[in-house]
Amino acid sequence: MKDHDIPVAPDHAERFEGNFTQQEPIPETAIAAAVAVMQSGRLHRYNTGPGELSETALLEQEFAAQTGAKYCLAVASGGYAMATALRAMGVGPGDKVLTNAFTLAPVPGAIAAIGAQPVFVGVTEALTIDLDDLAAKADQADVLLLSHMRGHLCDMDRLMEICAASNIAVIEDCAHTMGAAWRGVPSGRVGAIGCYSCQTYKHVNSGEGGLIVTDDADLAARMILLSGSYMLYERHLAAPEPEVFERVKYDTPNISGRMDNLRAAILRPQLQDLDRQVARWNERYRVLEAGLRDVPGLTIVERPGEESIVGSSFQFLLLDWSGDKVQEVVSRCGARGVELKWFGAETPVAFTSKYDHWRYAPSEPMPASDRVLAAVVDIRVPLTFTLEDCAQIARIIRAETGIVYQSGENKAETGG
Ligand SMILES: *Cc1c(COP(=O)(O)O)cnc(C)c1O
Repeated sequence: MKDHDIPVAPDHAERFEGNFTQQEPIPETAIAAAVAVMQSGRLHRYNTGPGELSETALLEQEFAAQTGAKYCLAVASGGYAMATALRAMGVGPGDKVLTNAFTLAPVPGAIAAIGAQPVFVGVTEALTIDLDDLAAKADQADVLLLSHMRGHLCDMDRLMEICAASNIAVIEDCAHTMGAAWRGVPSGRVGAIGCYSCQTYKHVNSGEGGLIVTDDADLAARMILLSGSYMLYERHLAAPEPEVFERVKYDTPNISGRMDNLRAAILRPQLQDLDRQVARWNERYRVLEAGLRDVPGLTIVERPGEESIVGSSFQFLLLDWSGDKVQEVVSRCGARGVELKWFGAETPVAFTSKYDHWRYAPSEPMPASDRVLAAVVDIRVPLTFTLEDCAQIARIIRAETGIVYQSGENKAETGG
């Protein structure tokens, strides 16, 4: 679309004034804990006085308990967590790793970080991994890095059947599913390893940060050594017994990516509050969902009953609309203060990109996935939004989508 086509909202139309990237402040208890760490001067996780337990070790112990995992490791980022999980599984240069075509750049990036190659698996209209495509590609790799992109959980039972049948180990990318569950099992606890991000746009906020959980003692020991534990692993509270480290410590490189006590101090009170925050996100999600039902041409992504969601973002589909028409909806909503992100753009924009933008990781074309990606419109739902804000956002999208839809010619000319 040309600049002169960008529509201007009429004066009488309501305009949303909120900020889509404004998170809530860090809770006072977390600020106090952070100040205490700074006053102590002991920010490094292994810089402890006699008998003292570090904030980082306590965070790991608490997150292990919260997810029901035997072992937990806190690291520098979600991306680092995924690369470490892959390395611990023995993935190396030239190896192939199955992963989602619909995800964010740090996921293929974690695979590339260790010299391995992503094999992209398609996405369905439910915005989950295409399990038929996964079954078809199952002979191509021994590991699946499964991204629960934008919080959508696939049929985890069927996924695990497919992976078990082909001896594929599963690493879950839970950057958008911390606090979510499939049939009551916390996201990250179905595969061999679960990885979470504590970056500002996720469900707990330490600026940067990552958490890893597993029940596998050997993987846990390798990941702890990889993260840069030197020979201080006995100071961990959610780690395997020292004998396990004895088996792997001479063969595991130290690739520093530890978390520090300042971030851990900020995260501990936030994790204690996660359930309450999840409930608040879901109230907002359901207001958006209700407000966008029965809009001609707009498809809601229905959430299965097996899934306990965390509605920290909302997606809808404009299936088989031409790119220009979707762009027109995005522009018109933008003019009324509603920031939509679109996964169909030809070039990557800000945080949004897709598999055929990642030229370092070439893929076969996936027409069915391209159709879905060209339709995905994405909305952030920060907790600074009120329920009325969400109702207003839905009203604006509804109105603008209706105008563009009724203007006709919204169908893609290619028919694809
Ligand atoms: C944010 C994100 C990650 C991890 O990101 P970091 O910024 O490295 O913490 C992983 N997967 C997805 C889908 C993400 O959005």
